Amino acid sequence: MSTFNEKLEKYAELIVKVGVNVQPDQKVVINSSVESAPLSRLITKKAYEVGASDVIINWADEEITLLRYQNSPIEIFEKAALHRAAERIELAHENAVFISIVSENPDLLKGVDGKKIAANQKAMGQALEEFRQMIQSNAISWTVVGAASEGWAAKVFPDLPHAEQVPALWEVIFETTRMNTADPIQTWKNHDETLNNKAAYLNEQQYSALHYTAPGTDLTIGLPKDHVWVGAGSYNKQGKEFMANMPTEEVFSCAEKTSVNGYVSSTKPLSYAGNIIDKFKITFKDGRIVDVVAEQGEDILKDLVATDEGSHYLGEVALVPDPSPISQSGILFYNTLFDENASNHLAIGSAYAFNIKGGEDMSREELEKAGVNSSMTHVDFMIGSDKMNIDGITASGDKVPVFRNGDWAF
Ligand code: ZN
Ligand code: ZN
Repeated sequence: MSTFNEKLEKYAELIVKVGVNVQPDQKVVINSSVESAPLSRLITKKAYEVGASDVIINWADEEITLLRYQNSPIEIFEKAALHRAAERIELAHENAVFISIVSENPDLLKGVDGKKIAANQKAMGQALEEFRQMIQSNAISWTVVGAASEGWAAKVFPDLPHAEQVPALWEVIFETTRMNTADPIQTWKNHDETLNNKAAYLNEQQYSALHYTAPGTDLTIGLPKDHVWVGAGSYNKQGKEFMANMPTEEVFSCAEKTSVNGYVSSTKPLSYAGNIIDKFKITFKDGRIVDVVAEQGEDILKDLVATDEGSHYLGEVALVPDPSPISQSGILFYNTLFDENASNHLAIGSAYAFNIKGGEDMSREELEKAGVNSSMTHVDFMIGSDKMNIDGITASGDKVPVFRNGDWAF
């Protein structure tokens, strides 16, 4: 049995070596809350050990974030912190790698004026346009990883005594990131191969559409010509592999922007901008979202859809088998990094350019023409369950099982 600190150090090593795969003389950027400082320090140490030239930390503090939303006027949120965006873009051009540690209390901004939240999302989205394009074309290496925090752990394990909540959340983070194996780095290599094999099969099929059925769902999603399914690992412009998300269980591609028809119901709450959106149903006509209803957070969801033109359409289409470890844990994380990897999901907003052949080198107009949506937002929401069936529709109109009862049918 290794101690918690030993395990945390191994986790930091996994993030540095597999997550962003730091190369000698590379700069490393870490976005972290102050509560995750112990992990950030270990990541910094491991990054220097493999030859990083500099490690730059952007700290955030939830109490201060909340005070800002409670006290600053809306005009502050409408004007993005352009200098912060400029720094990020400059570092990306220097080929830095970006590590985001997520640990947010899902209810942090509950009760805060939703207009401030929407204004902030929009302003940051605009300021980070260039950065987002670099991320969405895999120009640089980046990863999103989790770290337990008091606020988050209390939400996930409300029935546990306070002192046991954070350790319990760490334990499931370690479990779902395959840290509880003899050699996590090798385990991740094998996992990467498994997902890549599924992606390769789907790429060969080149279905023209997927048809989803489940209670509350009857949705057809057209897939663009030459779409590309991608597994866990991605390759940056220098050909270095990285894992954009840890954990990851998904194989994903993009929707043909104007060929989505029918309705889909959420199967898990969506934690978005410090609020929970739950039990919602979205209806599409020719790709466009024409109706949205939610039992909880309907206004927040409507604001999200109204962000810009592209946020009225789907970007990503992701397949995650229900028997995946995160789903089987039965735990609701109220955090998209984890919950999206428990379930088939879709993203409102932009698609990844690399989900279409040659997309990395296409302009925004060319991508749009190919049916690949762009938006300043990208928000995953969960639709999968063990009751979901998906058929692939071939060019000649035949239906082929892709998912049955929430699991791969091939
Ligand atoms: Zn996804
Ligand atoms: Zn996504």
